[in-house]
Amino acid sequence: MTTSQSLTDLIGKTPLIRLNRVSEETGCEIYGKAEFLNPGQSVKDRAALGIIRDAEASGALKPGGIIVEGTAGNTGIGLAMVGAALGYRTQIVIPRTQSEEKKIALRLHGAELVEVDAVPYDNPNNYVHYSRRLAEELAEKEPNGAIWANQFDNVANRNIHIATTGPEIWEQTEGKVDGFTCAVGTGGTLAGVAMALKERKNDVTIAVSDPGGSKIHDWYKKGELTTEGGSITEGIGQGRVTANLEGAPIDDAFRIHDSEMLETLFRLVTEEGLCLGGSSGINIAGAKRLAKELGPGHTIVTVLCDYGHRYASKLYNPEFLREKDLPVPPWLS
Ligand code: PMP
Repeated sequence: MTTSQSLTDLIGKTPLIRLNRVSEETGCEIYGKAEFLNPGQSVKDRAALGIIRDAEASGALKPGGIIVEGTAGNTGIGLAMVGAALGYRTQIVIPRTQSEEKKIALRLHGAELVEVDAVPYDNPNNYVHYSRRLAEELAEKEPNGAIWANQFDNVANRNIHIATTGPEIWEQTEGKVDGFTCAVGTGGTLAGVAMALKERKNDVTIAVSDPGGSKIHDWYKKGELTTEGGSITEGIGQGRVTANLEGAPIDDAFRIHDSEMLETLFRLVTEEGLCLGGSSGINIAGAKRLAKELGPGHTIVTVLCDYGHRYASKLYNPEFLREKDLPVPPWLS
């Protein structure tokens, strides 16, 4: 009999998919790590598991305790799913602006949702600060206590990518990987993979692919936390150097605007058979830019973070796109 002892055993060990058209076009071997195949259908299952296991090991998370987090959605889905499998309740603070599909997925996984206005990080009512205060209150009053997952500054997040995602990419490419790029939300994926790969091959090129509105591109290019434009992508973009990003060996940065992200995303549907979320569009557009910089013959890996159906009402909704003056592909309208 072959069995998995827990749902958590299904997290990670995702395949690398060769993106055939993108590879042909660039002359490089371009692979996407299929993180949408995790049980919670996103890359954030790994961070959720890493944070929960770390809090158990330190004794902060006690049996029957509550996990509290501020999240754009996918981390919350991972925390609720892994939490339920391991016997914890989850309370999620989410900005109202995030997609309905993600809010529904959170509720279906048993998370208690607190929706708050989307306000900047320096406002005390920002969802991150709100979730920290909620965790502190629950830790006092709940019999089994509560923890704040704190995905942005809790390095248990990047540690799981150092321990799993990075080594998986190394083994799956048999050490042939020359470049890696992805977008930053917390920075856990980029920093963790970067650290794991650089440890094995010092001259591997690590690049951040950053949407409009995010300050990370300018930080690595100019040493300034400045930005331009905005983006309809969710779960990525960052205005500060999180603890997860600190000390990450980043060589380069690309800014990818929504029109390039969408063109990449829509071509993936018709040319590769993949319907993915906006961050995957940023990542693959970034992989193409990295291919151009490194030149033909190189092996480049990026991350396919989640499925497109989590954004059916936005990225794949002709009315939404028209309202924003963004291109609508003929097969969608
Ligand atoms: N893509 C999606 C869809 C996400 O939800 C997130 C995390 N919020 C990311 C990418 C970024 O991952 P990380 O937090 O590891 O930087």
